[in-house]
Amino acid sequence: MISQESAGAVLTIDLQALADNWRGLKGRLKPGADLASVVKADGYGLGADKVASALARAGCRNFFVARLDEGIRLRKALGSQGRIFVLDGPLPGTAKEFIAHDLIPVLNEAGQISYWASESKGQAKAALHLDTGMNRLGLPSVELADLQPALEACGLCLVMSHLACAEESQNPKNALQLRWFLEARKNLSHLPASLANSSGIFLGPDYQFDLARAGVALYGVNPTPEQPNPMAQVVQLQGKIIQVRAVDTPETVGYGATHRVEAPALIATVGVGYADGWPRALSNRGCGVLGGVRVPLVGRVSMDLITFDVTKAPSHLVKPGGFISLLGDGLTVDDVAETAGTIGYEILTNLGPRYARSFVGA
Ligand SMILES: *Cc1c(COP(=O)(O)O)cnc(C)c1O
Repeated sequence: MISQESAGAVLTIDLQALADNWRGLKGRLKPGADLASVVKADGYGLGADKVASALARAGCRNFFVARLDEGIRLRKALGSQGRIFVLDGPLPGTAKEFIAHDLIPVLNEAGQISYWASESKGQAKAALHLDTGMNRLGLPSVELADLQPALEACGLCLVMSHLACAEESQNPKNALQLRWFLEARKNLSHLPASLANSSGIFLGPDYQFDLARAGVALYGVNPTPEQPNPMAQVVQLQGKIIQVRAVDTPETVGYGATHRVEAPALIATVGVGYADGWPRALSNRGCGVLGGVRVPLVGRVSMDLITFDVTKAPSHLVKPGGFISLLGDGLTVDDVAETAGTIGYEILTNLGPRYARSFVGA
């Protein structure tokens, strides 16, 4: 545990908002459909153990991770409750681990299917991932017929696919993938099905099937970028002011001397940098909030530090040990992502290990 005193920033994770987001998304599903939580990449950077435990308390019974190791860790955190699906599937030599830790592999291709059929001996469950147009993971449906005998020995409990363009509600690829999925699962219609990610839920009941798999929306990122964000904000990041520099003659700030300040000005240096996952692309573009005032990030983001022009902020707050909001106080993960030229997923999953993490609302 990193203490708030020693850390350069405090990351606050609101487990109540997270649970509210889960319930809100579940409430959008058609009757009978359930909502799984995707907690891969350490719960999108927020801490999978805490996040999954809070979601389990909210009623979540199905979890998805990417890697086997993530599954093993999550199984320890959840105890015997809940189903844990591992998206990578059973790579050679891993079947025993899946069975020992009560994890459900997602079978992606012919090799995984024959491996699981022979190793699980029908005693353990698996999900089947059909590729409907991502060409990344998943079985091309043309291979289904040949694999039918092996699939019968795999203990299938779910058939799934994944949408490529769900956040673009008008993209014709959505309907195309839906049609392929319906077609491909004709011979598997006895199995519960899963297609939608966070954004897919908002494409409507046809996309929701029996189990939706929400990730990013649980953590507060907007699953409907064309419309206002229906989700509650889950993370706040407060950067600590380490030094305040009064600049009394025109001068430049930071590496490369890319920003020139007109004197007199106050520059606050904060203990967050690109080593903490704060994007270097925010150099001379990002902002923070101090005492309700937006303060521009000036100069380059360096490894451990960022600098803000706080000349216009309330002067009693401009002091070492004070905090500038980097997320929260009106700054969303989506805002930061857009300014940095990336997506909210990347901002969240890069949130660094040097932050003091504070979980509230449990
Ligand atoms: C990551 C992932 C999800 C969750 O996607 P979000 O857009 O974060 O909701 C769902 N399904 C699969 C297969 C994934 O890889």
